[in-house]
Amino acid sequence: MSTFRPVCWYCGESYEIEPIYTCRRCKGTLEIHYDYEQICSKAYFTRLAASSGSEIWRFRELLPILPEGRTISLGEGGTPLIRTNNILNIANNQSLHLKMESINPTLAFKDRPLAVAITAAAQFGLNEVVCASTGNTGVAAAAYAARAGLRCTIYVPESTPEEKRSAMEQYGAVLHTVEGHYSDAYRVAEEMAVARQAFNLTSTYMNPYAVEGNKTVAYELAFQLGKVPDWIIVPIGAGPLLSGIYKGFKEMKLAGFTDKLPRMAGVQAEGCAPIVKAFHDGEADVQPWSGPAQTIASGIADPLLTYPADGTRTLSVIRESEGIALAIADAELIRYRRLLAEREGVLAELSSVTAVAAAAHMQQTGLLEQNATVVSIVTGHGLKDMSAAINHTKGSVL
Ligand SMILES: *Cc1c(COP(=O)(O)O)cnc(C)c1O
Ligand SMILES: [Zn+2]
Repeated sequence: MSTFRPVCWYCGESYEIEPIYTCRRCKGTLEIHYDYEQICSKAYFTRLAASSGSEIWRFRELLPILPEGRTISLGEGGTPLIRTNNILNIANNQSLHLKMESINPTLAFKDRPLAVAITAAAQFGLNEVVCASTGNTGVAAAAYAARAGLRCTIYVPESTPEEKRSAMEQYGAVLHTVEGHYSDAYRVAEEMAVARQAFNLTSTYMNPYAVEGNKTVAYELAFQLGKVPDWIIVPIGAGPLLSGIYKGFKEMKLAGFTDKLPRMAGVQAEGCAPIVKAFHDGEADVQPWSGPAQTIASGIADPLLTYPADGTRTLSVIRESEGIALAIADAELIRYRRLLAEREGVLAELSSVTAVAAAAHMQQTGLLEQNATVVSIVTGHGLKDMSAAINHTKGSVL
């Protein structure tokens, strides 16, 4: 008896452990459910918190892979948590920590979901994977596919930085540039995955196995801080990272290991912010982004054109956590990228800088309570979009 199964996030229909992306009854996206009573207790987390391991696979009972199966790993996870000194004003004893997902094998958090998804692909006996990517998913997919010996085909929009394209090719993936933006690449990847019977690793809620890898950020944060932070600030495209982190905290609370949940702040770039727009308009549903998707934060530029329901799913998680959604202007990203590098020694991808700029913005607008512990997720390394940033980094910080 396995302890997990894919379940429809909308209607609750449950499925076999198989390569499946949407509910056959209502077409909704899926989520993995576990037999929590059997596997996940306070003692389970207490034991792990005291153990010396750092890889995501120490949480394998809470990942959707078969217990006896081989895992595909490059040593992902176990990333540092560092405290900033110079981003927030020293007011009200608030602290800002950075979860350094940039210190993963391919320099972005995507190694967590992709390690899990590629492991699942290998367990399903598939020999081919496909994905659409704004860059980091593709790089991680290519690396883990190489490690597993799987054929990997990636579809990227034109805006994808050269650093990421080149990495995908060096890992041996077949790379196609699709005219238009991420949603166009998403559509082509979906067609190709069906045509070739390949596992689709596209980062939205498309692949329920991949999303689970993001939960490991939550477990690590709770162990590293010794408590649940008040706020977690996450750059979002469609939002599976944000949802995955929140799910991880819910599991720890369910197990009795922690007693509260964090509030989740989802951050987008002003030039492409469909989830933020719906949040501010008080809408129940996210609409596809209607204008041009224009921002230097290419990693999160997702207009959600044909899958706005993915945005709605993220929005509902943000609301459930009593969180917020906010957007940051490109000019602020350039300013904070430099500030973060010059004052904290952290070089972050432009998409990731949104979470740091958002922390400062939340403090300035009085959103952070006294003594608040805040974590911003540094989702990707600055080396992954050097050329995109370089043209913008002239001039002084303040
Ligand atoms: C993919 C990505 C995001 C957004 O994550 P989602 O889970 O797709 O919303 C944020 N930052 C970086 C650097 C990324 O690569
Ligand atoms: Zn359904």
